[in-house]
Amino acid sequence: MTELTTAALAETPEGRRCLQAMQDDPGSALVAFDFDGTLSPIVEDPARAVADPDAVAALGRLGRLVGTVAVITGRPARTAVSLGGLDRVPGLESMVVLGQYGVERWDAATGEFQIPEPPAEIDDVEAALPGLFAELGLHDVHLEHKERAIGLHTRQSADPAGTFRALVEPVRRLAEEHGLTVEPGRNVLEIRPRGHDKGDALRALVAERGARSVVFGGDDLGDLPAFHAARGLREEGLTALLLCSASHEEDALQQLSDMVVHGPSGVAAWTSAVADLLEGRAAAS
Ligand SMILES: [Mg+2]
Repeated sequence: MTELTTAALAETPEGRRCLQAMQDDPGSALVAFDFDGTLSPIVEDPARAVADPDAVAALGRLGRLVGTVAVITGRPARTAVSLGGLDRVPGLESMVVLGQYGVERWDAATGEFQIPEPPAEIDDVEAALPGLFAELGLHDVHLEHKERAIGLHTRQSADPAGTFRALVEPVRRLAEEHGLTVEPGRNVLEIRPRGHDKGDALRALVAERGARSVVFGGDDLGDLPAFHAARGLREEGLTALLLCSASHEEDALQQLSDMVVHGPSGVAAWTSAVADLLEGRAAAS
């Protein structure tokens, strides 16, 4: 009966092994989900991307059964807690939210946010930018200060593409001189600290909690580092199950997944079924 149930919840032997390990020792299990597209449906206005109530409630059920439940997101921790209503959900009383790819943290147990000061290098670079623009003869770059990053927008300049091209290399050199990195986008260069992704965040939390079985659920390319990290943990003797919330086509993620479900409602149903599975085990033992 149990085997039949785990088979329905994971398409791969590795995934089923992880579910078995969770049943055997739920206290050392860690379940972490991305926020947007995984717990909350993607909507036009990101400020209104409230979580699917069923997905959050199901995570709350798991929160009573496993050692650790967490959300790992690129959003600020405060935003995720607020959009998820995570401070009000039964069962999530000890959950952890890692925001800004692990830079920020919220612990439900204490209600405290840990939000570090932006690195001083960001201010140093910002102070150097007007001189650089003058040197390059560029006077129509729009500068956006984003706490832990600086956005340089060329959309409103007379020649967006030309201004962008003129900026790339000098800005990259300036960022590197200050130990920062540059992320190019569409008519925007973002200067930010290096070395934070969801893989780093997941690994650190797994180590902190001494977790032995790890579920991670995500929906897009920002989740790839966490997927790779979880697969790496398998090589270190842990079990891991990768859940893909396929709300929009993301082949790279699906190929690495042990289970593909349809969007946040699929995540809700899956999570609830895992809670059923673990509750069955708890009742039997
Ligand atoms: Mg997402």
